[in-house]
Amino acid sequence: MSTTYVIGTAGHVDHGKSTLVERLTGIDPDRLAEEKEREMTIDLGFAWLTLPGGQPVGIVDVPGHRDFIENMLAGVGGIDAALFVVAADEGVMPQTREHLAILDLLAVQGGVVALTKVDLVEDDEWLELVIAEVEEVMAGTVLGGAPIVPVSARTGEGLEALVAALDEALGQRPPRPDLGRPRLPIDRVFSMSGFGTVVTGTLVDGSIAVGDQVEIQPGGLKARVRGVQSHKTTLEVAWPGSRVALNLAGVDVADLKRGEVVAAPGTLAGSTLIDVHFRHLPDAGRPLKHNAEVKCFVGAAEVVAHVRLLGVQQLAPGESGWLQLRLSQPVALDKGDRFILRYPSPGQTIGGGEVVDAHPPHRWRRFKPDIIERLETLAAGTPDELVEQALDASVAGLSVAELAGQTSMSQDEAAQALDVLLDEGRALLVGDDRVFSRGAWGRVTTAMRQVLTTYHADYPLRAGMPREELRSRIRLDARVFTAVVDTAVRLGDVAIEGGGSWLRLPEHEIVLTGAQQAQADALLGTFAANPTAPPSLKEAAAQVGDEMLQMLLTRGDLTAVSNDVVFESGVYREMVEVVRAHLAEHGSITVAQARDVFGTSRKYVLALLEHLDQIGITKRVGDERVLGRAGQDG
Ligand code: GDP
Repeated sequence: MSTTYVIGTAGHVDHGKSTLVERLTGIDPDRLAEEKEREMTIDLGFAWLTLPGGQPVGIVDVPGHRDFIENMLAGVGGIDAALFVVAADEGVMPQTREHLAILDLLAVQGGVVALTKVDLVEDDEWLELVIAEVEEVMAGTVLGGAPIVPVSARTGEGLEALVAALDEALGQRPPRPDLGRPRLPIDRVFSMSGFGTVVTGTLVDGSIAVGDQVEIQPGGLKARVRGVQSHKTTLEVAWPGSRVALNLAGVDVADLKRGEVVAAPGTLAGSTLIDVHFRHLPDAGRPLKHNAEVKCFVGAAEVVAHVRLLGVQQLAPGESGWLQLRLSQPVALDKGDRFILRYPSPGQTIGGGEVVDAHPPHRWRRFKPDIIERLETLAAGTPDELVEQALDASVAGLSVAELAGQTSMSQDEAAQALDVLLDEGRALLVGDDRVFSRGAWGRVTTAMRQVLTTYHADYPLRAGMPREELRSRIRLDARVFTAVVDTAVRLGDVAIEGGGSWLRLPEHEIVLTGAQQAQADALLGTFAANPTAPPSLKEAAAQVGDEMLQMLLTRGDLTAVSNDVVFESGVYREMVEVVRAHLAEHGSITVAQARDVFGTSRKYVLALLEHLDQIGITKRVGDERVLGRAGQDG
């Protein structure tokens, strides 16, 4: 399965981010930006590189020299790892620290440091000093202990080691969960001639497919997904955790802007009041005051906000606390989303944290202990949230007993919390005794669908993938797999073929290209020209290839009677009828008689009669065939 990852660049301006991305990918992010401006690009690009294992990795290198930090913030949500750039000749600079603090507040899961421009450093001692300094500022942050790789985009030194380090860092990331509620924070909007409205962003929490109805929040404009691209490849479905461009029908470019979110209808709403947990940066400079005006960054959105400080008079640098933020415009966000606050001018990052309630009922009085308690409970999680989290973290669902064990609840408590989830459709019973959360279920069906998507692409002429092969790919034990497949078929996530021995995507159908159709027609033509003495299986395979031959057999155009002899299916049915009629009239038939009846050679009739013995239409008695058990009816 090809898991997609997205990395984001960060680091002081002019330390070589864009040059490095261009060098790694062959794609110049600045050029993409210019082309976008002139609305002429067909290259819906963002840069991406291919890891040694062949995996594409999207790179968000938000270009632009306006306010780099604000630009960076628009792109860095939802990334799997940071490519953190520090120039070896300059070392740690103010923005280095600020970007690092932001990655930390956004809880980005680590990454790799590229120590760029090593070609400018001749003194090894200097390099060691810079490395020590970088290690020191990273300690205790999400990049603590991250590998530091000296590179030069100019000479190419260290680039291979850098890619290897990224490969290793990403290899440790679990794939993004599919929670069944896709969200794509829009970081670019533009129009492309011949296509219309295009938006790009990093997709999280669900997949989006061509034909899907979507909603753009806040505002709730409706649109239909006309096309999906990732890494310049046209797709039917985009998976969570990938860089995606959507071509949207039904909305104008003028109606959309960066920061809005494409989501499944009814799953997301705008908010102007949010409760958050906030970490004030130690080097923020001054205490955070009630009513302070700040800029709030969440997803790809940027909005002016006023701080309501709850429970304390003011919040000193380095302290954490509860805030209610009044947003000057609605923003579509959700519980658990990470945000950053900055003072507007001069621009300075002061801290950030996590949304605890995206839709509190009203403004809170500032000094009420029960409000703080409510927020603490919300942040820690209610019983149903704890059960949901345990389920989300499971690979193959959990039983009630396992749930109780993992959440340290009693079985009764766990069962009660589970009922809430089942009632609200947040969990799903699979088989007799396993429960999946929407998230875990989304992940397992996404895994199956990804494997099937690849399989269909590799074998477009096959009806489906052998069941056991799929099972071993997604690594479920047989009992769980059976329950998962039954449920997935019932819910329309996958479909079965061949009585259940193959699995396929419901939307998969075998479509022949013009050339393939011509090939099939040519072969069937040969069969029609010699109906009772057609080419052998081997000859047919030599003519059209194994895949095409298997397709014609599976589809029922051809019927094989032995591992050598095959007839066109209509001819086969007629031959069976002729044998039956002969038996009805004469009581028996010999190979020689059959040969004369069909005017063909012994090889064909022998194979046919043996096949008829096998399926019970005839029965061999000495040198003759008489009517078999299955031949009596029909
Ligand atoms: P960004 O602002 O971080 O994206 O930095 P750029 O990629 O625009 O690079 C800033 C400047 O540093 C440009 O003039 C680059 O040519 C130069 N530069 C980038 N990487 C290297 C490098 O590895 N060696 C040298 N000597 N110069 C570099």
